[in-house]
Amino acid sequence: MITLCEKREKWPVQGEIITIGNELTSGMTLDVNGWYAAGRLTASGLQVTRITSVGDDYASVSQALKSAMKESSFVIVTGGLGSTDDDITNEIVSKALQRPLCLDKEMFEIIKRHTASHGAEMCRSLEKMAWVPDGSKMLSPEGKACGFSLVENDVRLYFLPGVPDQMRYLIDHAVIPELRSLYTKLPVTMCRTLKVYGLSEPRIAEIFRDLNKKTGKALIGFYPHFPENHITVSLTTERARDGLHELDRIETLIRKELGPAVFATGEDSMAEIVGKVLSARKLTVSVAESCTGGLIGHLLTAVPGSSRYFLGGIVSYGNEAKTELLGVQAETLEDYGAVSNETVREMAEGVRNRLHSDLGIAVSGIAGPGGGTREKPVGTVHLSLASAEETPSQGYRFWGNRHAVKLNSATMALDWIRRYANGDPLLPGI
Ligand code: AMP
Ligand code: MG
Repeated sequence: MITLCEKREKWPVQGEIITIGNELTSGMTLDVNGWYAAGRLTASGLQVTRITSVGDDYASVSQALKSAMKESSFVIVTGGLGSTDDDITNEIVSKALQRPLCLDKEMFEIIKRHTASHGAEMCRSLEKMAWVPDGSKMLSPEGKACGFSLVENDVRLYFLPGVPDQMRYLIDHAVIPELRSLYTKLPVTMCRTLKVYGLSEPRIAEIFRDLNKKTGKALIGFYPHFPENHITVSLTTERARDGLHELDRIETLIRKELGPAVFATGEDSMAEIVGKVLSARKLTVSVAESCTGGLIGHLLTAVPGSSRYFLGGIVSYGNEAKTELLGVQAETLEDYGAVSNETVREMAEGVRNRLHSDLGIAVSGIAGPGGGTREKPVGTVHLSLASAEETPSQGYRFWGNRHAVKLNSATMALDWIRRYANGDPLLPGI
């Protein structure tokens, strides 16, 4: 039976995360478990005060564990529960807390069944996973790996596998539900992300100078995700319904100020939004790519079901490809150059006609580092969008290295499709 009376007095409820693995401390693997667990715990009204990564060795793990237990109501430990020789978390905890390893029969049966279902033989390395420190309680029989918890000096300790999918399952289905049931008065922390394209960070900061007065107690965060900017709105409330209303109010305020520059709320990517808009309008699109080298097609096809609206693309990198595959006039290329409004217009119309799509988008630019001139420096990119009614075109000047120019050009192309389909004005260029 757990006694948490003293810890209940501590407010807010604070905890730590320890991620274990030599691959983390050697820089071979990026710690995604700490990031995920911290995000989920914070969103659940629990406060994470420290995330520590340590190697698979007794001294580091026991020191981190003892230090965390001094300060926290709960500690989440991930990694080192597997079957290989370097997975020694159980042994370390057993020694550090002076709890002998005991066979958890239920866990042993689950491992046996799981092993048999894969047509494999049970062996000592697998059995090892079911030897847990005395007093441990298995976390979930449903997950692929069980994990366990125990209480030491009123501190709730959770031991989870390092495999990110398994760890996430147990955080969401076992750890957080249990902590929330123990600490019933937890506030709710809610967060909403608004994704913005086409407004610089200083411009957004300027707009928020006035907006901040109207956003109440909500915490506003700005995160550049090149070439996008993400704005997070987070707040902590007693009741989820109140929080939701407040988030809606603030989102409306922000959208009113930033207009169509806000392209998504939440997880959706630009390509997913484009897919939704095209599907809703029953429009199809094809692409003619030069400097993006197929990136627009790649982004569009990263979305499942994109065959409903994406008909195809032509990567016309050289001038001959532009002429032969898209029907761009040799004179146009000669008179105006490959990076020009005239050329991209013919590319857009060419691909639209050849692939019989409602819309044809074309991009041609100078990604660098070479190839720039005084009139058309590196980063100069032209776009055009052909439809049955019109074929607007526009030049832009992007900053950054080759990768940045390509990514910005492809994102701008997607943004053009989105804005056109929504009836919003295209972003002004040079
Ligand atoms: P383990 O539970 O330590 O045997 O880890 C199993 C797998 O999960 C290994 O491939 C690890 O590299 C990976 N892993 C362990 N901890 C983490 C972490 N914190 N972040 C990302 N991957 C991890
Ligand atoms: Mg490991």
